Amino acid sequence: MLEKNKMYQIEILDLGHNGEGIGKIDGFTIFVEGGLPGDVVKVKTTIVKKSYAIGKLIKIIKPSGNRIDAVCPIAHECGGCQIMNMDYKAQLDIKKKRVEETIKRIGKIEVPVHDTLGMDKPFEYRNKAQFPVGMLDGKAIMGFYQKGSHQIVDTAYCHIQHPINETVVKLMKEYIHKYNITVYDEKTRKGLIRHVVTKVGYQTGEVMVIIITNGRNLPQQQELVKLLMDNIKGLKSVVQNINDKNTNIIFGQETITLHGENTIEDYIGPLKFKISAQSFFQVNPQQTKVLYEKALEYADLKGEETVFDIYCGIGTISLFLAEKAKKVYGVEVVEAAIEDAKTNATLNNITNAEFYVGEAEKIVPKLYEKGIKADVVVVDPPRKGCEETVLDTIANMEPERIVYVSCNPATLARDLAYLSEKGYKAVEVQPVDMFPHTAHVECVALIERV
Ligand code: SAH
Repeated sequence: MLEKNKMYQIEILDLGHNGEGIGKIDGFTIFVEGGLPGDVVKVKTTIVKKSYAIGKLIKIIKPSGNRIDAVCPIAHECGGCQIMNMDYKAQLDIKKKRVEETIKRIGKIEVPVHDTLGMDKPFEYRNKAQFPVGMLDGKAIMGFYQKGSHQIVDTAYCHIQHPINETVVKLMKEYIHKYNITVYDEKTRKGLIRHVVTKVGYQTGEVMVIIITNGRNLPQQQELVKLLMDNIKGLKSVVQNINDKNTNIIFGQETITLHGENTIEDYIGPLKFKISAQSFFQVNPQQTKVLYEKALEYADLKGEETVFDIYCGIGTISLFLAEKAKKVYGVEVVEAAIEDAKTNATLNNITNAEFYVGEAEKIVPKLYEKGIKADVVVVDPPRKGCEETVLDTIANMEPERIVYVSCNPATLARDLAYLSEKGYKAVEVQPVDMFPHTAHVECVALIERV
């Protein structure tokens, strides 16, 4: 039996969902934050439960061959990039292995999993940054929350964000100091500036800066806009969002445009999208294109098909499909996202896509009852996967192919197994690295009617 507060020497064998190392002591699972597969480490047990233990990494006795120095000096503190200290190729390999093993273990099915499609340059890929703003010893600090807390780690430059953020952070600090602007304190609930959020169009170079304030009055507004305009190339929009609630949710209800447009634009492949302060947009547009192209390849459309895009968000996949299909039906629960989907369809002159707001488990059966049948179905559910009602209805429609885009291999595995009992066979799975240096895995699966 494992004891608490005792030292053990172990080899790290695997990586968990949050990037933590996993090892075994006499067959007993132990999670070790900071451990990488292949490391031999000395750990001290801090928590011992019935089925697992948690250990603190005390010393690396022999480092894994894949261990490197993370390019970011605060990677360890920030927790955004959990596996930045792992060689990128090894990151891709481990993501593939995670998908393979999860499908075997949970789905109990055999399906080929391809090598993870990664980025040539896995840095500066994010198009949206959210910086909490604070004050430390009279100095404004901006950056990211420390792992598991609301302590702000002051960050001049984040390696996975668009480089424009460095300038935005510098300018916002300058504004705060020059005009003695107060910053929000979570404890006292006083102070003005809460967060600064930036959005960047990678293809267009357009930049939006959003200042989230606790209250309406933003002093020296003109000066702030001028400061940003003079120094940020591509600045298209400066927006204030008011949030005076005691909440961890970043955005409040009201948004005011201080300068320029309400939206910026960006492209994914040939499609153009309008992005507002609060609208959802994929954060890694370059890899999104890779993912969607794979989904489109799997959909194998000839132009005569009726296609469903279930969990369609702002309709990005739907519009990709619409160019190659006869008709696309998009289904999504968030009303604002469907509004965006319709706007984006118009923006791209797409007239064969129709969008429905509501829960997929209600809407999809309704469409089926109306006699609408899909030849090809694409699903891109949230982490919890698809509801059985959705999968049942899809199976009843008897589409030739189902393309399953997944952000969680565990629910993908479960749903693949469920579909295999309904006459559908998983043909292949392609992992795509949407979030380099994080433990996150995204994949797309091709499923065919037997
Ligand atoms: N396909 C989109 C977004 C997928 S994310 C894209 O590529 O951009 C998953 C989406 O499912 C989210 O937009 C979420 O709002 C939506 N969603 C969650 N539960 C849902 C449900 N029960 N019915 C329909 N949509 C749902």
